[in-house]
Amino acid sequence: MRHRRPRTATLIRGAIFAGICAAGLLTGSCGQSSGQSSSAAPKDIPLPIDSQSIDAKVPPNATLEVLLKGQNLSTETTGAMLKAMSDVFNPKDLRAHQTYRITRTLDGLLREFRYQIDADRLLRVFAAPANAFVGGSSPAPSFTAEVITLPKEFQVEVLVVDIAKGQSLVGVLEARGENVQLALELANIYGGEVDFNSDLQPGDRFEIMFERAMRNGEFAGYGRVLAANMKNAGRKLPAVLFEDGDGKPAYYDADGRSLKRQFLKSPLPFDPRITSQFSNRRFHPVYGGYRAHQGVDYGAPYGTAVNVVASGVVDFVGTQGDAGRMVRVRHASGYQTAYLHLSAFAPGLRVGQRVSQGDLIGKVGTSGASTGPHLDYRIIKNGTYVDPVAELKRMPKGEAIAASRLPAFAAVRDEQYGQMAALIAAAAPSGASHATPAAPRK
Ligand SMILES: [Zn+2]
Repeated sequence: MRHRRPRTATLIRGAIFAGICAAGLLTGSCGQSSGQSSSAAPKDIPLPIDSQSIDAKVPPNATLEVLLKGQNLSTETTGAMLKAMSDVFNPKDLRAHQTYRITRTLDGLLREFRYQIDADRLLRVFAAPANAFVGGSSPAPSFTAEVITLPKEFQVEVLVVDIAKGQSLVGVLEARGENVQLALELANIYGGEVDFNSDLQPGDRFEIMFERAMRNGEFAGYGRVLAANMKNAGRKLPAVLFEDGDGKPAYYDADGRSLKRQFLKSPLPFDPRITSQFSNRRFHPVYGGYRAHQGVDYGAPYGTAVNVVASGVVDFVGTQGDAGRMVRVRHASGYQTAYLHLSAFAPGLRVGQRVSQGDLIGKVGTSGASTGPHLDYRIIKNGTYVDPVAELKRMPKGEAIAASRLPAFAAVRDEQYGQMAALIAAAAPSGASHATPAAPRK
């Protein structure tokens, strides 16, 4: 692609050209334009090509230095570029198959390097103006680097999905052309109310009003879920996004009660099943015979992320007999949780470390007395093992919004649900989702 100088330069040139004509100094070429009135907008003047660009993809296992040198950039230039970007981009974050562009002047000087960090960010390294147009004589190349967040537009859309027998939320959303991110976001929102592992029933329904991000007409991810209604086993679970007094956005039910519970319903993203319940007497798959099973087993692929269910302090990280690799965390109100048979711990996890609800603490494995990859998850209350599934139902509902904020909350709630109902109604005949541009973010 040819590099176009900014429009002003064209205008300035045009003006200069018109000036020269007016003075009658130039030959015939003036003649040509003599018929035009001087007020006519100057035509775009094709500018001479003064640079050329190469577009390419990062090959597997390439380092940034090798990649730049592979493009015949000198050690000096490469060094100056790496120095310039050190504040904004870690070269170790270079990823294979990402696109990049190198633009040089016609005499081979590097003008700009662009690298697509991810869908939303672009690294740009460009020659500092001082030496951009000087031949090879400039003492040492110097560059400026910046990371640009690519703008995207958000449009508000609604989706209505029904869960039929044997269907998962991920499956249904993917069938509607959505990606797993939206399902993960819903699992986060309802994580304190619904265990997406085991609670989804045929006949359940989701109504979701969310922001879809678009860039140049292309799907570029999701923004926020603004409001949702979930029908689960006959229960109606509304969730609306609202910024309480502390300015932190969170999800609340229709009465202004936070959907965040002290404990997440499960330490696993979602979809794995319960393979073995909490029991005082269970046949032991490794040793045989009957003994207590003081946890609930979730079947999950080896390496699945294990997230801590509530904020707390780590009080054990290590290997312990039949439990294999285990993490135990101390929480408020006399609770501890334990995560057994792990394949790995979260990097740097240590005793005494503070963790927040949802933080990664390890990966699913089959260490210790285990016949296959699964997570044995345990809750200890005041020193006694309790059934995690039953205990959760006994836990208090989320915090309520401060009374002083309730009117503001009600206004947002009603507005969001009004908009969602209208969008659903508008979409109903075709079944396709209906979009409106999102309100600008505060
Ligand atoms: Zn177990």
